[in-house]
Amino acid sequence: MRAGSNADVQRLLDSELANVRRVSGGFPRSFKTPRETIAALLSLLALRQRYFALLGEHFSVFSFDGIVAMDRLDEALLVDASELLGRRPSSAGNEATERALGEAMEDLPVVREHPVGYEVLFLIRRMFEAFDEVLEFRTELEDEGLREPWEAAFLDRLALAIAKFVTDRKTPVARHFSDVQREHLVVERLHCRCGEAKFSVTHQSLMTEAGGAMVDRLEVRCAGCGASHSLEFPLPFIGDLTVA
Ligand SMILES: [Zn+2]
Repeated sequence: MRAGSNADVQRLLDSELANVRRVSGGFPRSFKTPRETIAALLSLLALRQRYFALLGEHFSVFSFDGIVAMDRLDEALLVDASELLGRRPSSAGNEATERALGEAMEDLPVVREHPVGYEVLFLIRRMFEAFDEVLEFRTELEDEGLREPWEAAFLDRLALAIAKFVTDRKTPVARHFSDVQREHLVVERLHCRCGEAKFSVTHQSLMTEAGGAMVDRLEVRCAGCGASHSLEFPLPFIGDLTVA
């Protein structure tokens, strides 16, 4: 099996990628308030439920093709979320709100250095939950007018959480390393037809194809039934030392 080689998955992927772009394209070029920015971000992130359901309906989201397609969509969603956040108003949080949000979110999971998109999306969801709790417990924030510096500080934190991932995916050197790292994160999420969700990598080899393209091939075996698969990951950025 090769990542991106299933034509049916690719068709669904292309149409959902186009949908993400269409929704992103409908947002204003600049947002007037932090609240407006947050609302737009939430409606963008809500697209994940749609493509997750669509992929799951036609293919398993725990199959190789399904996982690879979800990662592609998550990445596109995060790139657009990052651009959306770049259009937030310049109104800033203040020291007090930044510190309080820092404390409210200090227990959140640390994103791996080269994460896949779902880890960043999971972190963002936890950040929203923590932010909702802050709003709930600070009764003075029932007055919507007082929320703006909090919302601004929250947007700054969200932008930071996404920036590292997006920058890495746009930088060939970093992208190559995160491509290799994510291969194992794909295997981690893979479920076997027997129901088991534990594949181990039994062999890994780097192949050069006719034409010079490089492909990483992972042989994996299910711990439950012993079924083995060969998973191929194209590495288009190998040897590209461009850093920007
Ligand atoms: Zn199995």
